Amino acid sequence: MTARTATPAQEEKINWLSSIPFVGVHLMCLFVFYTGAKPVDVAVCVGLYIFRMWGITAGYHRYFSHRAYKAGRGFQFFLALAGTLATQKGVLWWAAHHRHHHRYSDQEQDIHSPLQKGFWWSHAGWILCDKYNETRYDSIKDFARFPELVWLNRLFVVPPVLLAVALYFIGGFSMLVWGFFVSTTLLYHGTFTINSLSHVFGKRRYKTTDTSKNNWLLALVTLGEGWHNNHHFHQNTANQGWFWWEVDLSYYSLKALSWVGLVSDLRTPSEQTKYSYLKYSAEDQAALNPPGRWFAPLAAHRKAAEEKMKAAEEKVREALATAADRLPTSAPSPQALLKRQ
Ligand SMILES: [Zn+2]
Ligand SMILES: [Zn+2]
Repeated sequence: MTARTATPAQEEKINWLSSIPFVGVHLMCLFVFYTGAKPVDVAVCVGLYIFRMWGITAGYHRYFSHRAYKAGRGFQFFLALAGTLATQKGVLWWAAHHRHHHRYSDQEQDIHSPLQKGFWWSHAGWILCDKYNETRYDSIKDFARFPELVWLNRLFVVPPVLLAVALYFIGGFSMLVWGFFVSTTLLYHGTFTINSLSHVFGKRRYKTTDTSKNNWLLALVTLGEGWHNNHHFHQNTANQGWFWWEVDLSYYSLKALSWVGLVSDLRTPSEQTKYSYLKYSAEDQAALNPPGRWFAPLAAHRKAAEEKMKAAEEKVREALATAADRLPTSAPSPQALLKRQ
């Protein structure tokens, strides 16, 4: 492959030709203006969003990337298939890259750090360049020993295409547009927010070596993935919302599946892990969420203005001192002048 001989700068460039399907999925959404919004189509769009997001979070992320619970071989394949339908490449590709993200989060090697490479790169750019096309099999050896997963990983395009065809035959063009293209586009950006926005917006409860944040809105959009600071603090838990108010729909579904025996051994954080933040010093607590990160440019502007004022004052002071030095020492005092009159 040419990628190996290319310089890193060339490698990290969006390949627009191979990105045509990704851009095409977005453009196809414009047909909603032609089809209108039939309730059944919108319902299919929402339903497929939820099901496939579940495939990504409960399957690709919590099961395949982090092994946060156990599943039998049949259900494991179902999880992989549900994630594959989301059209976010193959299961082994996804999970291996995700393990890499945790290993180097927000360091130079992190392939989708908004801190290192900017917001848009972390959101979508990194998946559109050739450099990260290959599956890092060395990072996912544990699941690469299942031939059916390797096969699904290679043929990741087939299930979404079959889904699109099925939607067309079931509900016509409008169901294809809503159920596949709109739903998939929403799914892309819903998932990508975890790489981009949840390393930018939200609150940090735990000290981690990265910029991960907890964000309730992103947790709703992604069925629980928005509790990203919890997740980076302790990755291998089946739940990412650790407190009752941290809504985590993927975990609730996994819990229900465990009652019927489809999954088991759901890992959860120990009380010690959960409450470890209570031991932080007041300074550490304050440093976790420094005020006004988003006002940083404004603060910098104010600081620069203050420095300018100080410099101007200094100049005036210097000029006055120079003028005072130049005054003739023989000049009569005001008292002397008054006496003369
Ligand atoms: Zn992250
Ligand atoms: Zn993770």
